[in-house]
Amino acid sequence: MKIYKAYKFRLYPTEEQRILIHKTFGCSRFVYNYYLNYQKESGVKKSFDLCKDLKELENNHEYLKEVDSCALRCAIFDLEDGFNNFFAKRSGYPNFKSKFARQSYRTSCVRGTYKGKVYSNIELDLLTRFIKLPKLGRVKIRGYRNKERIEGKIVNATISKDTTNKYYVSVLVEEDLLVEKVITPTSIVGIDLGIKDLVVTSDGIKYSNKKVLMKFEKRLKRLQKELSRREKGSKNYLKTKEKIARVHAKIKNYRKHYLNDIAKEIVNDHDIIVTESLLVKDMFKDKRKAFNKSLSDACISTLRSLIEWKCKIKGKIYYKINTYYPSSQICSYCGYKNSKLKDLSIREYDCPKCGSHNDRDINASLNIMFEGLKLHYQS
Ligand SMILES: [Zn+2]
Repeated sequence: MKIYKAYKFRLYPTEEQRILIHKTFGCSRFVYNYYLNYQKESGVKKSFDLCKDLKELENNHEYLKEVDSCALRCAIFDLEDGFNNFFAKRSGYPNFKSKFARQSYRTSCVRGTYKGKVYSNIELDLLTRFIKLPKLGRVKIRGYRNKERIEGKIVNATISKDTTNKYYVSVLVEEDLLVEKVITPTSIVGIDLGIKDLVVTSDGIKYSNKKVLMKFEKRLKRLQKELSRREKGSKNYLKTKEKIARVHAKIKNYRKHYLNDIAKEIVNDHDIIVTESLLVKDMFKDKRKAFNKSLSDACISTLRSLIEWKCKIKGKIYYKINTYYPSSQICSYCGYKNSKLKDLSIREYDCPKCGSHNDRDINASLNIMFEGLKLHYQS
C-alpha cells in the first residue's frame, strides 16, 4: 500500500535565507491573488493555461524571477483546488490571501537524471540535519532525532512561519507501507467518546479530557487579562499577544502528543476497535463553554481518525457504529432500555430491571463493543 506521510521539521534559515523565504511568501501570495482576481473577471481557467500566462507575468514583474518558480506554480494549483472545492460545494468561494494570515508556500519536488546520476531539487539529509530546497540551498533543520533517513519519495515541501516567528518545513513523502495483518482477532474494545472523559473503554479505562483542557487554561486566562490591560498596539501589547500565541501553540502540540498516545495504546492492546460515528457538531448544544467545546470537538474527531489510521497500518479491525444507536440508555447486562437516562447528569445508576450498578460511560462503551461484535459476525 502506498501512503503519504508528512514530516514536519523546525527550520533554521540564515538571515539571507530568511529574506528569500519572505520574498517567496510574498510572491506566491501575489500570484495567487493576481490569478484569483483575473479569474473573477474573465472566468475560471485551467491551471495549465494559467501556468502559461505566468511566464508573461514573470517577464513583466522581474522580482518574481528571484524566487522559486515551482512555488509560484504551486500557488496556481492551490487556487485551482480552491475553485474545484467551491464547485463541488465543499467550501466557499476562494478568498484573497492576506499578508497578516499564516505565511506559507509550497514547492514540488522535481527529479532529473544527468549522466546517469539522479538529481532532485529537494533533498533531506538527516545525518547532517540539512534540507536542500529550491533557491534557498541547504537549510538547517531539527526534528525526528532518532531517524537516520526517510525511506520513500519526496513529493513536495511546505515552508511556513507561525505566529511566534518560528519557521517550519513540512515534507510530504510517498512511502510503501507493509501492512501487518491480524489473522484471528482475539480482543475487542468499545470506546465511548465524550466531553468529561475524552475516552472511556469497555475495559473500564478512562482518559480524562481535563488534562488537555486545564493544563494551559489558567495561564491563558491570566495572559488574556494582561492583554486587556495593555494599550492596543503598544510594544507590551504585542509582547503579550505573542505570549498568547505561544501558549496556543503549546496546547496544540500537547494535545497532538496526548491523543497520539491514547490511540497508540488502544490500538496496540486490541484487535477490534469500535467507536460511535458521532457527528461531533450535534453533540453539545451548550455554547457557554465555547472554549472547552471547540477543544473537545477537535480532540474527538482527531482521536477517531488517529484510531482509524493506526488500525489500518497495524492490520487491526475498526468499526464505526450508527450514531443513533442509544448506547447510553441500554443496560449492557440485560438489554433493558431506560429512556430516563437521556438526562446527561445521571452518571451512575442501578438498572431497574436487573439491578446491576452501571457507570454511564462504561456501560455505553460496553454496548458499543457488543454492537461492534454483531457487525463483526455479520461481515
Ligand atoms: Zn439491566
